[in-house]
Amino acid sequence: MTRTDVIIVGAGPAGLMLAAELRLAGVRPLVLERKPQRRDIPKAGGLGGQILELLRYRGLLERFEAACTGPVPPPRFPFGGVHLDFTQLADPPLHALPLPQQQLEQLLDDRAGELAAEIRRGHEVTGISQDDTAVTVDVLGPDGPYQVVARYVVGCDGARSRVRDWAAIPFPGITYPEVNRLAQVTLPDEVTVDGNGDLDVPGFGTISAGFTRTDHGLFGIGSSPGSRAVSLYTIEDESTEYDDDVPMTMPELQDSIHRVLGAWLPVAEATRLSRFTFKACQAERYRDGRILLAGDAAHLFPATGVALNAGLLDAVNLAWKLAADLHGRAPAGLLDTYHGERHLAGARTMLHTRAQVALRRGHDPAAEALRAVFTELLTDEQPLRRMGALVAGTDLRYPMPGTEPHPLAGTFAPDLTLHTDQGVTSVAELSHAARPVLLDLAGRPELRELAREWHDRVDVRTAKTDERPADVLLIRPDAHIAWAAAVGE
Ligand SMILES: Cc1cc2nc3c(=O)[nH]c(=O)nc-3n(C[C@H](O)[C@H](O)[C@H](O)COP(=O)(O)OP(=O)(O)OC[C@H]3O[C@@H](n4cnc5c(N)ncnc54)[C@H](O)[C@@H]3O)c2cc1C
Repeated sequence: MTRTDVIIVGAGPAGLMLAAELRLAGVRPLVLERKPQRRDIPKAGGLGGQILELLRYRGLLERFEAACTGPVPPPRFPFGGVHLDFTQLADPPLHALPLPQQQLEQLLDDRAGELAAEIRRGHEVTGISQDDTAVTVDVLGPDGPYQVVARYVVGCDGARSRVRDWAAIPFPGITYPEVNRLAQVTLPDEVTVDGNGDLDVPGFGTISAGFTRTDHGLFGIGSSPGSRAVSLYTIEDESTEYDDDVPMTMPELQDSIHRVLGAWLPVAEATRLSRFTFKACQAERYRDGRILLAGDAAHLFPATGVALNAGLLDAVNLAWKLAADLHGRAPAGLLDTYHGERHLAGARTMLHTRAQVALRRGHDPAAEALRAVFTELLTDEQPLRRMGALVAGTDLRYPMPGTEPHPLAGTFAPDLTLHTDQGVTSVAELSHAARPVLLDLAGRPELRELAREWHDRVDVRTAKTDERPADVLLIRPDAHIAWAAAVGE
């Protein structure tokens, strides 16, 4: 029987990211994916939030940007049928890349491959059992059934996770009776795209840019000046439970637009057609013994644009903790902080996506008033920035042990420019290798000395920076600050 350290069930974005991060941490995972080939049904159209900063810290962002299908869109983000409009801000708090999920999975697959992670496609996990020392996984591969024994199994097997069921982890929540249809299309010449993004449709008239709300649902247009390629979307009340693996068709989109707007919108060509049902579910526990959950297996949010950020960051948070445990270097309780930190992150995302449901769904004057008040508040910079940070997940601070942790402890490390004896570097550059770093910014040998007993696993660096936020920072592999010594402490 084959033995391995970690089995990852599912080669979607969360599983592939986890595989790469585990390889960086010196662990050899085995990824088992039931589908023989990568998926070609469109899902996410983009990637945004804190994960982009993490990818930059890994030295990967340029590669991801280069793979984008279009120009980086104006910093406007749909939020429950209104827009968070960052176009007036020079430094928006939320960034997004128009990177369709197929391209994202290709990039993550390439990265996992470069790091020599083993991915077996066409190998379906059909059962799991665990005891105190190991997990036994039943697999159905192209040559028949076999078993693998691992020290840990991570269920990255998506919304209908069977790993979650086998571990008997409850997944409470609700499905909203709404369906969101999304499309990227090219409009034919007969439809005029005005300079402000409005559409003039023959036989119907003008459809305003942004959102149009009717008695039958919500219609949205995202366009760039001068381009006939636009994003369209509808949201309608509908109780059908669609399978994400069943593609949406052009007639389905056009029927939906007709129901919502009462207009037939001519479309020349569609480059992307997809459908999304709104669920709000979160696993009660992200860990049961030797079985862990990440990505959609752990959470489903009732809004688009946030799930990948959450799922990929789960993987980044989990990988180095699993590796520390497997290398026998984890302090007691470290692996349980995965649930503590990422369940909290998921709950924050649930909070604002549920608020989006309330903003989006109401059709009465009270709901109109809520949207009007919310929109008015967002014309002020401070609340707009705060909402941007909430959606991006950049306002998250993981709880850290100790009575009075430094205010930076638990936050994402700022990208300080660092002047060292070897030249200029940065926190982002130091994070490429995903190793913990003790960063002495004040020339304090007695604090560097604290890391002496971990010299084989913590890189100790001395540097100077302008306006140092602390004398010493201990930065974890996921770029969060584990501990900081206050200036002059
Ligand atoms: C139409 C649509 C639009 C979306 N838009 C956005 C967006 O704009 N932004 C965003 O962030 N998110 C978006 N999402 C959500 C995003 O697609 C998911 O969050 C993401 O795919 C989750 O990744 P994952 O790796 O957790 O799971 P998945 O991508 O679902 O991958 C799970 C993998 O596990 C495999 N698997 C399952 N069971 C087994 C088994 N027993 N054995 C072996 N393998 C198994 C599956 O075949 C699959 O490959 C959208 C989703 C849809 C449907």
